[in-house]
Amino acid sequence: SKPIVAIVGRPNVGKSTFFNYLAGRRISIIDDTPGVTRDRIYAESEWRGRKFTIIDTGGIEPNTDDYIKQQMIQQAHIAIDMAHVIIMLVDVKTGLTALDEEVANILRKADKPVLLAVNKVDNPGQPPADIYEFYNLGMGEIYPISSIHGLGIGELLDAVYEHF
Ligand code: GDP
Ligand code: MG
Repeated sequence: SKPIVAIVGRPNVGKSTFFNYLAGRRISIIDDTPGVTRDRIYAESEWRGRKFTIIDTGGIEPNTDDYIKQQMIQQAHIAIDMAHVIIMLVDVKTGLTALDEEVANILRKADKPVLLAVNKVDNPGQPPADIYEFYNLGMGEIYPISSIHGLGIGELLDAVYEHF
């Protein structure tokens, strides 16, 4: 059966943009307002001839702080239960946040491979020094990507593929 890859991250890091890029079409709803995704959404993708299922665990993502935290914990558990490989997305433009650390703490304890992708690195030829702070999450290698421009995603998918 096809491997399942789940995308986890706090609102507005670019999960739906990344998901749509992998899906090759617009399925997930992207909005400039943090918190716009209807539900967890599935699509099929393919890398190096291997088909896999991707899940945007975005959920409802409303804007109240308490609820966002609850949703993120739920997302992390959905990913741990369902996925073969988890991609945790963070956002270089906002930097490392307490919510990122909470999700990382849950994912690190899971017995699943987790890859950390730093999104919105729109010019990977000159990655901002800011990307290095994400090593503090203790998740090993970091993968700078730009979901909008489709940059760095091949390197990330090669690393995902190693776990299939
Ligand atoms: P989600 O809430 O995590 O699903 O995030 P979205 O995919 O809805 O994106 C939130 C905002 O970030 C939108 O305005 C996107 O256009 C923007 N965004 C997503 N990926 C990138 C990227 O690679 N670079 C930049 N500059 N903006 C991005
Ligand atoms: Mg979304």
